Amino acid sequence: MNTYKHLLVAVDFTESIGSVIERAQKIAQTDGAKLSFVHVIEPAPVDFLDQTMLVDINLDELLKKTASKQLQNLAKKYSIDDADCYLEVGSVKNEIFKKIDELSVNLLVVGSHGRHGLALLLGSTANAVLHGANCDVLAVRVND
Ligand code: AMP
Repeated sequence: MNTYKHLLVAVDFTESIGSVIERAQKIAQTDGAKLSFVHVIEPAPVDFLDQTMLVDINLDELLKKTASKQLQNLAKKYSIDDADCYLEVGSVKNEIFKKIDELSVNLLVVGSHGRHGLALLLGSTANAVLHGANCDVLAVRVND
């Protein structure tokens, strides 16, 4: 039977991400696979940025700093090396796809909330990455 060599968990900073990571860790342990995290910051809409410039806040920098700290905390909690955590800026789907190719990932693991409109059954990110990912995708059902 084929085993996975590199798992990538797409992490957000909701409480439910813990159960997604734990599922990925179990598979990684069984298969002796490497485990990496990726978080993607979506750029703020231009209208919103215009407003923030009035109050002299560099929103991009603030978002990056906050996300970086949250990612570090998550990595520490689940004993993942900082070097295996990736913080990207752009479209969540596209940045995840880029990482899959760059790291030769065999299994992408995401949470599936099932709370967003048309993507009601899977959740928006899970739904988006299922179409076009270059590897297996595990959508772990979470309740929040
Ligand atoms: P959602 O699109 O909110 O239903 O999120 C579903 C899952 O997509 C989450 O449990 C994460 O695994 C992943 N995800 C959501 N947002 C991000 C993000 N900004 N960066 C990386 N992964 C994400």
